[in-house]
Amino acid sequence: MQTSEATMERTSQNVEEMDALIIGGGFAGVYQLIHLREQGFTAKLYDFASQLGGIWYWNRYPGARVDTTCPLYQFSREDLWRDWKYTEMFPAWHEIRGYFKYVDEKMCLSKDTRLDTRIETANFDSERNQWIVTTDKGDTVRARYVIICTGFASKPHYPKIEGLETFKGETAHAGRWPQNDIDFTGKRVGIIGTGASGVQLTEQSSRRAKHTTLFQRTPALALPLRQRKLTEQEQEEMKSEYQAMYDIRKDTFAGFDYEFHTESWHDLTPEQRREHYKGRWGIGAFRPWLGSFRELILEDEASNEAYAYWREQVHARVKDPATAEKLAPEKPPILYGTKRMPLEQWFFDAFNQDNVDLVDLKETPIVRVTPDGIETSEGLIELDVILFGTGFDAVTGGPAAIDIHGVHGETLKDYWKDGFRTALGTTSNGFPNLFFIYGPQSPAAWTNGPSTAEYQGEWVVACIKYMREHGFHRIEASREAEEFWREEVITCAEGTLLPRTSSWWFGTNIPGKASEPLYYAGGLPRFLDLCWQSANNDYEGFTLS
Ligand code: NAP
Repeated sequence: MQTSEATMERTSQNVEEMDALIIGGGFAGVYQLIHLREQGFTAKLYDFASQLGGIWYWNRYPGARVDTTCPLYQFSREDLWRDWKYTEMFPAWHEIRGYFKYVDEKMCLSKDTRLDTRIETANFDSERNQWIVTTDKGDTVRARYVIICTGFASKPHYPKIEGLETFKGETAHAGRWPQNDIDFTGKRVGIIGTGASGVQLTEQSSRRAKHTTLFQRTPALALPLRQRKLTEQEQEEMKSEYQAMYDIRKDTFAGFDYEFHTESWHDLTPEQRREHYKGRWGIGAFRPWLGSFRELILEDEASNEAYAYWREQVHARVKDPATAEKLAPEKPPILYGTKRMPLEQWFFDAFNQDNVDLVDLKETPIVRVTPDGIETSEGLIELDVILFGTGFDAVTGGPAAIDIHGVHGETLKDYWKDGFRTALGTTSNGFPNLFFIYGPQSPAAWTNGPSTAEYQGEWVVACIKYMREHGFHRIEASREAEEFWREEVITCAEGTLLPRTSSWWFGTNIPGKASEPLYYAGGLPRFLDLCWQSANNDYEGFTLS
């Protein structure tokens, strides 16, 4: 273990000092804590949740589960995966929380973790090249580095609907689910939103509630999850493949263990392509998207063909043709694959039940909420519970929500008000020694979370180590590096069909928010190449002093 750069100490003013302060207790934050400590740095992790787990602390609604197969939804270190077992291919929130508890115990994270504590302000002290950070507990901390790992979804989006405050039943947002849960049994449940959260909530409500109404603005282009239980023996056998799965992630566009199909869409006949769609459909999860033709997100004709296949599958499952048409209309409501596709198990079948209704908000808009339910243009739908699967104010809820003042006195939020400016999606000019992982202009939304947490995280740890080895105390992105990166992020997005779909990837899900690509669509391999090219050239694009 090497000597720490700034040993943990309390000064006469009772201010705790450390090398790195990490904000956020999901995969990215936990990775930093483990790896910085292993390099001999002093580090502490703060989270305003009461447990580690990041998004899985707040998104604990019934049916909340990950869209990634379980080998990839964990850290790739053998000392952690060797003894860990999930029970399902796509684990639910409580198992993922269990995983974080396991990692905590195995790596002794608790001693360096401050839960139930919100970071309120951070001011850079240029004299000492440290961040002075305050918490809602009244503590002040000095840290050489601040690493923001708050994820994309720390600020839930609640739509403004007239009369909502008058509703006399229960309400909840999927992203802030009450820790004591909501019991749907015997209740009339209304769900607004058809993203991954709305789809999962609808499935659970359809089996538990007396009646379920889904309020749909845009149909969910959901793909089959293909969930299955895993025995301990199966997982043990799968472990012989784990290392190969982890190794391949960095060479794939989205950090999964598979890549876009190798053949061009143009080189196959329609019949051959249909066979291909059928095969991918059988595997399920994201294979009919990120394991299919690259052209699906690049060209209208390809995207529309995949949509037509998807639509056929939905119509085959929904008995009432009018409902099927609302769920999967002839004209694609959005271009196939241009936002993260929800995964479903019995979502479409649920609409064959007498106690599940679909309200198409384009035909029948919500007028207001009343004490008894939701009033649409066709009348009142009486409800006991209203659930919001209405998404998140992505990124704004993370780094920009903390009052961070850089060296010019400007806050990070102000610095980004006319558009995100970062170098390699990792730091911003005027904010030395401040890193964000899984943040704006990183490949985050495109990728498997743990992959980005590890690969981008590895770069940050290596950078901090390099600083120590070369006697540097301050690193800051140059404006030129930010310009280069902004151009790269915009160019990559514009080369695809993505900008034509409104989604949280562009901030357009939030009324009034400027539209720009929030995430890097150039793929993980190119992202990592550019990051390591800079590192190997003594952190080109950054000023070290
Ligand atoms: P989302 O994908 O942003 O979906 C929000 C939904 O709410 C959309 O259908 C949107 O309709 C609707 N909506 C928003 N405002 C509305 C309004 N005023 N009236 C009616 N409908 C409204 O949010 P999410 O489902 O929470 O998912 C966010 C991301 O979290 C996903 O992309 C996924 O990556 C992740 N997630 C993953 C899982 C999983 O792993 N299985 C589970 C949950 C979430 P429009 O489309 O018309 O805007």
